[in-house]
Amino acid sequence: GSVKSGAKVVVIDPGHGGADPGAVGIGGLQEKRIVLDVATQVHDLLRRQGINAVLTRTNDREVDLPPRVAKAEGVNADVFVSLHANAISLSRPDINGLETYYYATGYRLAKSIHSSIRSTGSVADRGIRQARFYLLRKSSMPAVLVELGFTTGRIDAAKLKTAAHRKRLAEAIARGITTYLQEP
Ligand code: ZN
Repeated sequence: GSVKSGAKVVVIDPGHGGADPGAVGIGGLQEKRIVLDVATQVHDLLRRQGINAVLTRTNDREVDLPPRVAKAEGVNADVFVSLHANAISLSRPDINGLETYYYATGYRLAKSIHSSIRSTGSVADRGIRQARFYLLRKSSMPAVLVELGFTTGRIDAAKLKTAAHRKRLAEAIARGITTYLQEP
């Protein structure tokens, strides 16, 4: 889409894609599909609010990590938000919940998005955590990686496969980003 001058630039990164499904959970639930749907909705919601949102992939294709960071750097993003869904083991359906990761400068962004999702009351809290993930280390702007829930979790998987829950997550993420951008 078009780029408004002066608009904030937000890069939304749906993890995995193509031959890389990411986490595969209960009933074959695939991370790459969940995050593409949520990311596309976040992108559309932000665009409607005049924010210059950009996706690192818009369809089911594989993208390596370096080009995802390059995209964020190339458009001079104000923030970078990578979306993922977790997996542990099909023998641990009891493990469910939201995790938000940051590395250096993304803590306030992580807190804003994490709190916004938590406020929907739709996912358990596994905390805001610091991690040396490639995407977080290599991005020069505040960057976070959100694990929206466990594809292997009984509670999360049942929700993640519904369009209503994915919409609720997208709205909460968009709200978390706009709140962050509006803070002084
Ligand atoms: Zn992932």
